[in-house]
Amino acid sequence: MYSLPKKLQDMTPYTPHTERFRVRLDANESPFMPDRAAIDKMKSALDKIEFNRYPDPSAKNIRECFASLYGLKPELLTASNGSDEIISVIINAFCDAGGSVCVIEPDFSMYRFYAEVCGLNVVAVKKRDFAIDPDEVIKTVNSSGAQILIFSNPCNPTSLGLDRESTRKIVKNVNSLVVLDEAYMDFYDQSLLGEVEEYDNLIILRTCSKMLGLAALRIGIAVANKRLTGILNTVRSPYNMNSLSALAACELLSDHEYVKTVNQKIIHSRDWLYNEILAFIPDYCKLIKPCTNFVTLVTDQAREIYDFLKTKGVLIRCFDEFIRITAGTQSENQAVTAALKEFFR
Ligand SMILES: *Cc1c(COP(=O)(O)O)cnc(C)c1O
Repeated sequence: MYSLPKKLQDMTPYTPHTERFRVRLDANESPFMPDRAAIDKMKSALDKIEFNRYPDPSAKNIRECFASLYGLKPELLTASNGSDEIISVIINAFCDAGGSVCVIEPDFSMYRFYAEVCGLNVVAVKKRDFAIDPDEVIKTVNSSGAQILIFSNPCNPTSLGLDRESTRKIVKNVNSLVVLDEAYMDFYDQSLLGEVEEYDNLIILRTCSKMLGLAALRIGIAVANKRLTGILNTVRSPYNMNSLSALAACELLSDHEYVKTVNQKIIHSRDWLYNEILAFIPDYCKLIKPCTNFVTLVTDQAREIYDFLKTKGVLIRCFDEFIRITAGTQSENQAVTAALKEFFR
Protein backbone atom coordinates (compact mmCIF):
# COMPACT_ATOMS: atom_id res chain seq x y z
CA MET A 1 0.00 0.00 0.00
CA TYR A 2 1.26 3.44 -0.91
CA SER A 3 1.68 6.06 1.77
CA LEU A 4 2.95 9.58 1.24
CA PRO A 5 6.34 10.58 2.63
CA LYS A 6 5.90 11.88 6.17
CA LYS A 7 7.07 15.40 5.29
CA LEU A 8 4.17 15.73 2.80
CA GLN A 9 1.40 14.37 4.98
CA ASP A 10 0.25 17.56 6.64
CA MET A 11 1.48 20.26 4.29
CA THR A 12 -0.94 23.04 3.50
CA PRO A 13 -0.91 24.30 -0.07
CA TYR A 14 -0.17 27.96 -0.88
CA THR A 15 -3.54 29.11 -2.19
CA PRO A 16 -3.61 32.58 -3.69
CA HIS A 17 -7.03 34.17 -4.19
CA THR A 18 -8.75 33.46 -7.47
CA GLU A 19 -12.04 35.27 -6.79
CA ARG A 20 -12.58 38.60 -8.47
CA PHE A 21 -12.25 41.79 -6.42
CA ARG A 22 -12.80 45.39 -7.44
CA VAL A 23 -9.50 46.33 -5.83
CA ARG A 24 -6.67 43.81 -5.43
CA LEU A 25 -3.89 44.93 -3.14
CA ASP A 26 -2.92 41.53 -1.77
CA ALA A 27 0.05 40.29 -3.83
CA ASN A 28 2.54 43.19 -3.97
CA GLU A 29 2.33 43.38 -7.75
CA SER A 30 2.87 46.62 -9.60
CA PRO A 31 -0.49 48.29 -10.29
CA PHE A 32 0.82 49.55 -13.62
CA MET A 33 0.55 47.69 -16.91
CA PRO A 34 3.41 48.31 -19.31
CA ASP A 35 2.31 51.14 -21.64
CA ARG A 36 0.81 50.58 -25.09
CA ALA A 37 4.10 51.14 -26.93
CA ALA A 38 5.93 48.59 -24.76
CA ILE A 39 3.20 46.02 -25.29
CA ASP A 40 3.34 46.56 -29.06
CA LYS A 41 7.09 46.00 -28.95
CA MET A 42 6.56 42.82 -26.92
CA LYS A 43 4.09 41.59 -29.52
CA SER A 44 6.44 42.15 -32.40
CA ALA A 45 9.16 40.34 -30.45
CA LEU A 46 7.02 37.20 -30.74
CA ASP A 47 7.80 37.09 -34.45
CA LYS A 48 11.44 36.41 -33.61
CA ILE A 49 10.74 33.23 -31.66
CA GLU A 50 11.59 29.85 -33.13
CA PHE A 51 8.73 28.02 -31.46
CA ASN A 52 9.93 24.54 -32.39
CA ARG A 53 13.31 25.07 -30.71
CA TYR A 54 14.26 24.93 -27.05
CA PRO A 55 15.08 28.30 -25.54
CA ASP A 56 18.66 29.57 -25.13
CA PRO A 57 19.82 27.57 -22.07
CA SER A 58 21.93 30.48 -20.86
CA ALA A 59 19.08 33.01 -21.26
CA LYS A 60 21.67 35.46 -22.50
CA ASN A 61 19.24 38.15 -23.66
CA ILE A 62 17.39 38.58 -20.38
CA ARG A 63 20.63 38.40 -18.37
CA GLU A 64 22.14 41.15 -20.51
CA CYS A 65 19.08 43.39 -20.33
CA PHE A 66 18.82 43.00 -16.58
CA ALA A 67 22.57 43.49 -16.09
CA SER A 68 22.52 46.66 -18.14
CA LEU A 69 19.60 48.09 -16.16
CA TYR A 70 21.36 47.53 -12.81
CA GLY A 71 24.98 48.04 -13.88
CA LEU A 72 26.02 44.40 -13.35
CA LYS A 73 28.15 41.86 -15.21
CA PRO A 74 25.85 39.51 -17.17
CA GLU A 75 28.09 36.52 -16.38
CA LEU A 76 27.20 36.81 -12.69
CA LEU A 77 23.48 36.43 -13.38
CA THR A 78 21.30 33.33 -13.51
CA ALA A 79 17.75 33.62 -14.83
CA SER A 80 14.89 31.54 -13.47
CA ASN A 81 11.19 30.91 -13.75
CA GLY A 82 10.39 33.51 -11.10
CA SER A 83 12.62 33.83 -8.06
CA ASP A 84 10.39 31.22 -6.49
CA GLU A 85 11.96 28.59 -8.73
CA ILE A 86 15.53 29.50 -7.88
CA ILE A 87 14.70 29.58 -4.15
CA SER A 88 13.54 25.99 -4.46
CA VAL A 89 16.59 25.01 -6.52
CA ILE A 90 19.03 26.63 -4.07
CA ILE A 91 17.44 25.08 -1.00
CA ASN A 92 17.49 21.70 -2.72
CA ALA A 93 21.08 21.96 -3.85
CA PHE A 94 23.02 23.76 -1.13
CA CYS A 95 22.02 21.56 1.82
CA ASP A 96 23.12 18.03 2.58
CA ALA A 97 20.45 15.46 3.46
CA GLY A 98 19.27 16.14 7.01
CA GLY A 99 20.74 19.65 6.93
CA SER A 100 19.21 22.87 8.20
CA VAL A 101 17.96 26.10 6.69
CA CYS A 102 17.86 29.20 8.89
CA VAL A 103 15.02 31.70 8.44
CA ILE A 104 14.21 34.94 10.29
CA GLU A 105 10.49 35.09 10.94
CA PRO A 106 8.11 36.59 10.10
CA ASP A 107 9.43 36.50 6.54
CA PHE A 108 8.40 35.26 3.07
CA SER A 109 6.62 31.98 3.78
CA MET A 110 8.03 30.15 0.76
CA TYR A 111 11.48 29.79 2.40
CA ARG A 112 10.14 27.50 5.10
CA PHE A 113 7.82 25.82 2.61
CA TYR A 114 10.58 24.76 0.21
CA ALA A 115 12.86 23.67 3.05
CA GLU A 116 10.08 21.45 4.38
CA VAL A 117 9.35 19.98 0.94
CA CYS A 118 13.04 19.08 0.76
CA GLY A 119 12.80 17.35 4.14
CA LEU A 120 15.28 19.78 5.72
CA ASN A 121 15.24 21.14 9.25
CA VAL A 122 14.11 24.73 9.66
CA VAL A 123 15.85 26.83 12.30
CA ALA A 124 13.82 29.99 12.92
CA VAL A 125 15.14 33.18 14.51
CA LYS A 126 12.18 35.17 15.84
CA LYS A 127 12.25 38.90 15.11
CA ARG A 128 11.63 41.25 18.02
CA ASP A 129 9.36 44.17 17.10
CA PHE A 130 9.72 42.86 13.54
CA ALA A 131 13.40 43.84 13.44
CA ILE A 132 16.39 41.66 12.56
CA ASP A 133 19.11 41.40 15.21
CA PRO A 134 22.29 40.63 13.23
CA ASP A 135 24.18 39.25 16.26
CA GLU A 136 21.39 36.86 17.15
CA VAL A 137 21.18 35.68 13.53
CA ILE A 138 24.94 35.06 13.34
CA LYS A 139 24.94 33.17 16.64
CA THR A 140 21.97 31.00 15.63
CA VAL A 141 23.33 30.14 12.19
CA ASN A 142 26.75 29.20 13.51
CA SER A 143 25.60 27.26 16.54
CA SER A 144 22.96 25.32 14.57
CA GLY A 145 25.30 24.49 11.71
CA ALA A 146 22.66 25.65 9.21
CA GLN A 147 23.99 25.45 5.65
CA ILE A 148 21.71 28.16 4.29
CA LEU A 149 20.50 31.43 5.76
CA ILE A 150 17.71 32.94 3.68
CA PHE A 151 15.87 36.20 4.31
CA SER A 152 14.29 39.09 2.45
CA ASN A 153 15.60 42.65 2.60
CA PRO A 154 13.50 44.76 2.60
CA CYS A 155 11.27 42.23 4.29
CA ASN A 156 7.98 40.90 3.02
CA PRO A 157 5.73 41.02 5.07
CA THR A 158 7.07 43.51 7.65
CA SER A 159 8.05 46.24 5.10
CA LEU A 160 11.19 46.97 7.15
CA GLY A 161 14.64 47.35 5.62
CA LEU A 162 17.98 46.34 7.09
CA ASP A 163 20.85 48.77 6.51
CA ARG A 164 23.77 47.73 4.35
CA GLU A 165 26.25 47.60 7.20
CA SER A 166 24.14 45.14 9.22
CA THR A 167 23.54 42.94 6.17
CA ARG A 168 27.29 42.90 5.46
CA LYS A 169 27.99 41.94 9.04
CA ILE A 170 25.69 38.92 8.71
CA VAL A 171 27.17 37.80 5.38
CA LYS A 172 30.74 38.15 6.66
CA ASN A 173 30.22 36.35 9.95
CA VAL A 174 28.00 33.35 9.23
CA ASN A 175 29.46 30.01 8.16
CA SER A 176 26.56 29.37 5.79
CA LEU A 177 25.50 30.34 2.33
CA VAL A 178 23.44 33.56 2.52
CA VAL A 179 20.49 33.91 0.16
CA LEU A 180 19.60 37.58 0.28
CA ASP A 181 16.21 38.11 -1.33
CA GLU A 182 16.13 41.71 -2.59
CA ALA A 183 12.72 41.42 -4.30
CA TYR A 184 11.80 44.87 -2.90
CA MET A 185 15.18 46.63 -3.03
CA ASP A 186 13.95 48.94 -5.82
CA PHE A 187 11.97 50.72 -3.10
CA TYR A 188 14.93 51.06 -0.70
CA ASP A 189 18.59 51.91 -1.20
CA GLN A 190 20.67 49.40 0.74
CA SER A 191 21.44 46.75 -1.87
CA LEU A 192 24.54 44.55 -1.78
CA LEU A 193 24.37 43.95 -5.55
CA GLY A 194 27.42 46.14 -6.21
CA GLU A 195 29.67 44.09 -3.94
CA VAL A 196 28.41 40.56 -4.54
CA GLU A 197 31.79 39.42 -5.88
CA GLU A 198 33.48 40.27 -2.60
CA TYR A 199 31.79 37.36 -0.84
CA ASP A 200 32.25 33.62 -1.29
CA ASN A 201 28.88 32.83 0.32
CA LEU A 202 26.32 35.30 -1.08
CA ILE A 203 23.52 34.83 -3.61
CA ILE A 204 21.27 37.85 -4.15
CA LEU A 205 17.81 37.36 -5.62
CA ARG A 206 15.92 39.91 -7.65
CA THR A 207 12.64 39.60 -9.53
CA CYS A 208 10.78 41.18 -12.45
CA SER A 209 7.47 40.61 -10.62
CA LYS A 210 7.37 43.63 -8.33
CA MET A 211 8.70 47.06 -9.39
CA LEU A 212 9.12 46.00 -13.03
CA GLY A 213 5.47 44.98 -13.28
CA LEU A 214 6.02 41.67 -15.08
CA ALA A 215 4.61 39.17 -12.58
CA ALA A 216 2.80 37.34 -15.39
CA LEU A 217 6.06 36.52 -17.17
CA ARG A 218 7.71 34.74 -14.19
CA ILE A 219 11.28 36.01 -14.25
CA GLY A 220 13.69 35.85 -11.35
CA ILE A 221 17.38 36.73 -11.39
CA ALA A 222 20.07 35.39 -9.06
CA VAL A 223 23.31 37.34 -8.73
CA ALA A 224 26.44 35.77 -7.24
CA ASN A 225 30.18 35.39 -7.75
CA LYS A 226 31.50 33.25 -10.65
CA ARG A 227 31.91 30.09 -8.61
CA LEU A 228 28.41 30.11 -7.11
CA THR A 229 26.92 31.11 -10.46
CA GLY A 230 28.64 28.08 -11.98
CA ILE A 231 26.99 25.85 -9.41
CA LEU A 232 23.57 27.43 -9.98
CA ASN A 233 23.97 26.72 -13.67
CA THR A 234 24.87 23.11 -12.89
CA VAL A 235 21.91 22.41 -10.63
CA ARG A 236 19.07 24.32 -12.30
CA SER A 237 17.06 22.75 -15.08
CA PRO A 238 18.62 23.66 -18.43
CA TYR A 239 15.64 25.38 -20.12
CA ASN A 240 14.09 27.03 -17.08
CA MET A 241 13.74 30.44 -18.78
CA ASN A 242 11.24 30.35 -21.63
CA SER A 243 11.84 32.28 -24.86
CA LEU A 244 8.58 34.20 -24.76
CA SER A 245 9.04 35.71 -21.32
CA ALA A 246 12.68 36.54 -21.89
CA LEU A 247 12.04 38.34 -25.18
CA ALA A 248 9.01 40.25 -23.94
CA ALA A 249 10.80 41.35 -20.76
CA CYS A 250 13.83 42.57 -22.72
CA GLU A 251 11.62 44.96 -24.67
CA LEU A 252 10.50 46.57 -21.43
CA LEU A 253 13.79 46.44 -19.50
CA SER A 254 15.74 48.12 -22.30
CA ASP A 255 13.68 51.26 -21.76
CA HIS A 256 15.55 52.54 -18.72
CA GLU A 257 13.64 55.83 -18.65
CA TYR A 258 10.31 54.02 -18.47
CA VAL A 259 11.55 51.79 -15.67
CA LYS A 260 12.81 54.77 -13.68
CA THR A 261 9.48 56.55 -14.07
CA VAL A 262 7.46 53.53 -12.95
CA ASN A 263 9.75 53.02 -9.96
CA GLN A 264 9.16 56.61 -8.86
CA LYS A 265 5.41 56.32 -9.40
CA ILE A 266 5.24 53.26 -7.15
CA ILE A 267 7.32 54.90 -4.42
CA HIS A 268 5.06 57.94 -4.63
CA SER A 269 1.99 55.71 -4.33
CA ARG A 270 3.50 53.91 -1.33
CA ASP A 271 4.29 57.20 0.41
CA TRP A 272 0.79 58.51 -0.24
CA LEU A 273 -0.75 55.34 1.20
CA TYR A 274 1.50 55.48 4.26
CA ASN A 275 0.82 59.13 5.05
CA GLU A 276 -2.90 58.82 4.42
CA ILE A 277 -3.34 55.80 6.72
CA LEU A 278 -1.06 57.28 9.37
CA ALA A 279 -3.35 60.30 9.62
CA PHE A 280 -6.44 58.41 10.76
CA ILE A 281 -5.49 55.14 12.46
CA PRO A 282 -6.11 54.94 16.21
CA ASP A 283 -3.23 54.89 18.71
CA TYR A 284 -3.55 51.17 19.42
CA CYS A 285 -2.50 50.32 15.84
CA LYS A 286 1.01 50.77 14.52
CA LEU A 287 1.86 51.58 10.92
CA ILE A 288 5.44 50.63 10.06
CA LYS A 289 7.44 53.13 7.99
CA PRO A 290 7.83 51.11 4.78
CA CYS A 291 10.89 50.36 2.62
CA THR A 292 8.74 48.36 0.18
CA ASN A 293 5.82 48.81 -2.24
CA PHE A 294 3.35 47.90 0.51
CA VAL A 295 2.50 49.05 4.00
CA THR A 296 2.17 46.88 7.08
CA LEU A 297 -0.31 47.81 9.79
CA VAL A 298 0.22 46.10 13.14
CA THR A 299 -3.15 45.49 14.78
CA ASP A 300 -4.95 42.87 16.83
CA GLN A 301 -8.00 43.33 14.58
CA ALA A 302 -6.28 41.99 11.44
CA ARG A 303 -8.99 39.43 10.66
CA GLU A 304 -11.86 41.88 11.26
CA ILE A 305 -10.28 44.51 9.04
CA TYR A 306 -9.55 41.98 6.31
CA ASP A 307 -13.13 40.67 6.34
CA PHE A 308 -14.61 44.17 6.39
CA LEU A 309 -12.50 45.32 3.42
CA LYS A 310 -13.59 42.22 1.50
CA THR A 311 -17.22 43.26 1.88
CA LYS A 312 -16.18 46.53 0.23
CA GLY A 313 -14.60 44.69 -2.71
CA VAL A 314 -11.05 45.36 -1.51
CA LEU A 315 -8.62 42.46 -1.10
CA ILE A 316 -5.54 42.83 1.11
CA ARG A 317 -3.35 40.27 2.86
CA CYS A 318 -4.11 39.13 6.38
CA PHE A 319 -1.61 37.78 8.93
CA ASP A 320 -2.09 36.95 12.62
CA GLU A 321 -0.93 40.26 14.06
CA PHE A 322 -0.95 42.59 11.08
CA ILE A 323 -2.33 43.35 7.64
CA ARG A 324 -0.37 44.08 4.48
CA ILE A 325 -1.63 46.48 1.80
CA THR A 326 0.08 46.81 -1.57
CA ALA A 327 0.48 50.32 -2.96
CA GLY A 328 -1.93 50.62 -5.91
CA THR A 329 -3.12 53.21 -8.38
CA GLN A 330 -4.47 56.44 -6.95
CA SER A 331 -8.06 55.20 -7.19
CA GLU A 332 -7.19 51.86 -5.59
CA ASN A 333 -5.40 53.64 -2.77
CA GLN A 334 -8.40 55.88 -2.26
CA ALA A 335 -10.73 52.87 -2.18
CA VAL A 336 -8.70 51.03 0.44
CA THR A 337 -8.13 54.07 2.67
CA ALA A 338 -11.82 55.04 2.49
CA ALA A 339 -12.81 51.52 3.54
CA LEU A 340 -10.23 51.45 6.34
CA LYS A 341 -11.41 54.82 7.60
CA GLU A 342 -14.94 53.49 7.69
CA PHE A 343 -13.80 50.46 9.67
CA PHE A 344 -12.15 52.59 12.35
CA ARG A 345 -15.07 55.01 12.58
C1 LIG B 1 7.05 38.25 -4.43
C2 LIG B 1 8.27 37.72 -3.80
C3 LIG B 1 9.10 36.82 -4.47
C4 LIG B 1 8.59 36.09 -5.67
O1 LIG B 1 9.06 36.54 -6.81
P1 LIG B 1 8.76 35.76 -8.18
O2 LIG B 1 9.91 36.18 -8.99
O3 LIG B 1 7.45 36.29 -8.67
O4 LIG B 1 8.72 34.30 -7.93
C5 LIG B 1 10.28 36.45 -3.90
N1 LIG B 1 10.64 36.91 -2.69
C6 LIG B 1 9.85 37.75 -2.00
C7 LIG B 1 10.27 38.21 -0.65
C8 LIG B 1 8.63 38.16 -2.53
O5 LIG B 1 7.81 38.94 -1.82
